[in-house]
Amino acid sequence: MSAPRRVLIAGGGIAGWTVASTFRDRGFDGEIVIVEREAACYDRPPLSKTVLVDGAPLSSLAFAAPEALAQASIEVHAGRTVVALDAAARTLRLDDGALLAGDVIVLATGTAARPAAFPGSTLPGVLSLQTYADARALHALKGRRIAVVGAGLIGAEATAALRTAGSEVTLIDPSAVPGTRAFGPTMAAHLHAMHGAAGVDCRRDTVAGVVPTGGALRVDLTGGDAVEVDGVLVATGVVTDPIVARESGLDVDDGIVVQDSGLTSAPGIYAVGDVARRWKNGVLRPGSGHWDAARADGQDVADAILGLPPAGRGADWFWSDRYGHHVEVVGALAGTAREVVRPGLHPTVFVVDGDRLVRAVSVDDPLAVRAARRLIDRRTPVVADQLVDPAVPVRSLLPHA
Ligand SMILES: Cc1cc2nc3c(=O)[nH]c(=O)nc-3n(C[C@H](O)[C@H](O)[C@H](O)COP(=O)(O)OP(=O)(O)OC[C@H]3O[C@@H](n4cnc5c(N)ncnc54)[C@H](O)[C@@H]3O)c2cc1C
Repeated sequence: MSAPRRVLIAGGGIAGWTVASTFRDRGFDGEIVIVEREAACYDRPPLSKTVLVDGAPLSSLAFAAPEALAQASIEVHAGRTVVALDAAARTLRLDDGALLAGDVIVLATGTAARPAAFPGSTLPGVLSLQTYADARALHALKGRRIAVVGAGLIGAEATAALRTAGSEVTLIDPSAVPGTRAFGPTMAAHLHAMHGAAGVDCRRDTVAGVVPTGGALRVDLTGGDAVEVDGVLVATGVVTDPIVARESGLDVDDGIVVQDSGLTSAPGIYAVGDVARRWKNGVLRPGSGHWDAARADGQDVADAILGLPPAGRGADWFWSDRYGHHVEVVGALAGTAREVVRPGLHPTVFVVDGDRLVRAVSVDDPLAVRAARRLIDRRTPVVADQLVDPAVPVRSLLPHA
């Protein structure tokens, strides 16, 4: 396909924004138009961190100020929702009736918070955390009593931020060790213990329902207890229902199914970031749910559209912040892998498969993570005894270090 002259992007999160900025970085001088439902194109991770603690303004989360957008000639229809896609005509219909046409359309609409299934989940004060408005609503409860339902990445981060901001937090999750899938058993246990140490009331339970009680909310737990709070955050995961793509006849399956290049089942229509799903080893993989993967996806898809080779990613990487600590995970789990643990104030967990490092998880140790990423990418043989030895810098395990 020849280079497009006009690119339409639905969704201005990190994936959609990276598509736009990569086009410009590569010297593309055609038109770029982003349609974003929110008031600006902005980043999600600070929503469960700084915004909850200090109520940071939306402008501090935005990818670019209005002047920078104008300078880069990126047209943003903020506060507008894409309601229909005509894949054959390559048009997007917006909620104000406007019809936008492009040579190429990129769908970057991300995910939505999974709605709670328990009675009372639609009461005022029962919140989710996906948008800036959600984060501000939670920030407004600073210092008060909050129940957080779900101790996954967003629930655990929000718990830490709300507790740091002085709230009384009850964290409810049925798992013995929440976060095991993301961090592995050792690090998940270490991170979960931080909540109790910070004075969070951790309950291994599920919510039976929420009932209003004279200005407050009573959270009834399945185990029989009840907790009275001023607000409830439901953080039980995300869902992908790319309604616009589905209704326009694209191949969808809990996300938009794309080829490696990001191309959907319709010519000229691409999907990127958390909304996109790719086949890998015969399995349809969900979107990663992590920031860096969505960013890299945006870059690769822009390059693919421009006919350029992918920049090359290296091992997957994500981070999470808790009580002033920065947790980083690099690599992926492999079938026969085992954990080896370097002791310390915080453990560093290495996952090895034979003599290969496949994953590393550390707290407040970016140098170790960077070195581990290189060991993984280069497939450098490693020795478990060296990995677990706090006296051996991870960097020294690299050839020619
Ligand atoms: C609170 C929170 C904290 C997070 N913290 C971390 C973290 O610490 N580390 C990490 O690695 N990852 C984190 N993530 C995950 C990471 O932010 C996501 O993986 C990433 O944002 C996905 O990028 P995306 O562009 O695909 O989707 P999104 O960032 O969700 O962007 C999608 C955009 O599309 C817009 N949109 C949706 N539908 C329409 C429509 N019909 N019309 C117009 N616009 C539409 C949305 O408003 C949104 O701006 C966090 C996510 C959240 C919600």
